[in-house]
Amino acid sequence: MDIAKAEKFIGQCWGDEIVPTLVEYIRIPNKSPAFDPDWAAHGHMDAAVSLFERWARRKLPSLPGATLETVRLPGRTPVIVIDVPGDMPGDGADTVLLYGHLDKQPEMVGWADGFGPWTPRLDGDKLYGRGGADDGYAMFGALSALLALREQGVPHARCVILIEACEESGSPDLPYYVDHLAARLGSPSLVVCLDSGCGNYDQLWLTTSLRGLVSGTLRVRVLTEGVHSGYASGVVPSSFRIMRRLLSRLEDEETGAVHPSELYAQIPAERVAQARQAAAALGDTVFSEYPFAPGVAPMADDRPELVLNRTWRPQLAVTGIAGLPLPVDAGNVLLPFTEAKLSLRLPPTLDAESAGALLRSLLEKDPPYGARVEIDLESSATGWNAPALAPWLGQSLARASEAAFGAPPAYMGEGGTIPFMAMLGEKFPQAQFVVTGVLGPHSNAHGPNEFLHIPTGKRVSTVIAQVLADHHQRIPVNREK
Ligand SMILES: [Zn+2]
Repeated sequence: MDIAKAEKFIGQCWGDEIVPTLVEYIRIPNKSPAFDPDWAAHGHMDAAVSLFERWARRKLPSLPGATLETVRLPGRTPVIVIDVPGDMPGDGADTVLLYGHLDKQPEMVGWADGFGPWTPRLDGDKLYGRGGADDGYAMFGALSALLALREQGVPHARCVILIEACEESGSPDLPYYVDHLAARLGSPSLVVCLDSGCGNYDQLWLTTSLRGLVSGTLRVRVLTEGVHSGYASGVVPSSFRIMRRLLSRLEDEETGAVHPSELYAQIPAERVAQARQAAAALGDTVFSEYPFAPGVAPMADDRPELVLNRTWRPQLAVTGIAGLPLPVDAGNVLLPFTEAKLSLRLPPTLDAESAGALLRSLLEKDPPYGARVEIDLESSATGWNAPALAPWLGQSLARASEAAFGAPPAYMGEGGTIPFMAMLGEKFPQAQFVVTGVLGPHSNAHGPNEFLHIPTGKRVSTVIAQVLADHHQRIPVNREK
């Protein structure tokens, strides 16, 4: 493959067509079902699907034999399946699965003046708005890579692009589609996931692991109704204080370390070495990329430790609180209950279901003062640790990163969760994985001021084209064995 030519083709495709389409996409408030239970009635998800479909269908004639189907199982979010045949007879059995999602996180507060989740705004190299980078660009990037190969007549294996619509809800519908589409997905030898992060915008970043996640709502009830605090405090225990005590069973409030040893996993030596290398490449951006308030320090000084904290160690975030009025409305009342949404990230290799069971027994047992304590576990997803990298893929990624970015690739775990990767890793233990993405410093997926770094989107697409070309080249080598 002539990579300079591919770069030019992909750059033009992005500039002329992909960016304008993503601008339209950002306007659609197609929040994931967890944040919009009435998503089907609202119709935003269908609007996003048909925008994607329209663009992809215009491109299909350039990819001979390619088909597109939006599959809709009853009561579930849709998935778009684009099937692009391979070039050589007999390649049908060898499939590359390219994955992305089109559902979005909710709005969040804190957007800068003039910016907003559903307000696309181009500013230099960046396209601001919800969902452009997480993960709207994925289908377009994957198709631009395939179109670049086609333009040069470079052969590739059969490729299936799968775009789901409930990733931000923990992909509850996806297992049903994996079963439903089993014959079409085949047994992929390569999985490309374009929904991950990058440590900077200067080189290719490969995700070597993803953390798992258990989330749920913890409820502490002490009264049937609120009572004057001057009358009740000292007699009735505060539900907020009981919540604090329960959370202290889970984490050390001094250090943020999670207490139960069962929630840790052995970190493989290779991952520790890669964390050191990644920390060296990142320098201070390991912590300086976060929008710290003035004077606030990170949880550790040691950069590799920070990388391992966010990629291989369990950590708790309290992401929502209920039962408390806003300060402006708060009288002197001892409140009847406190409710907290807990989001517990897990080491990549830890089973999420047993972690959920542990969380339940840890928090519900022996409630202080006999308070009514309950946790509703909402979703759990096991993390993922990449299999050993095949030599052909390591070489391909090194070459592609040098050509597209002018720098070698970097390998690092990510702190987030993509449930589909664990599903695929378990189902297809022989598959190789390229998990990468455009979510770099300040891109702020899930938060305010999310942006897509357009040059990185183009470069990642170019890398995928190179990897698909090299993946096809490796086939005769395997067949000779
Ligand atoms: Zn995503």
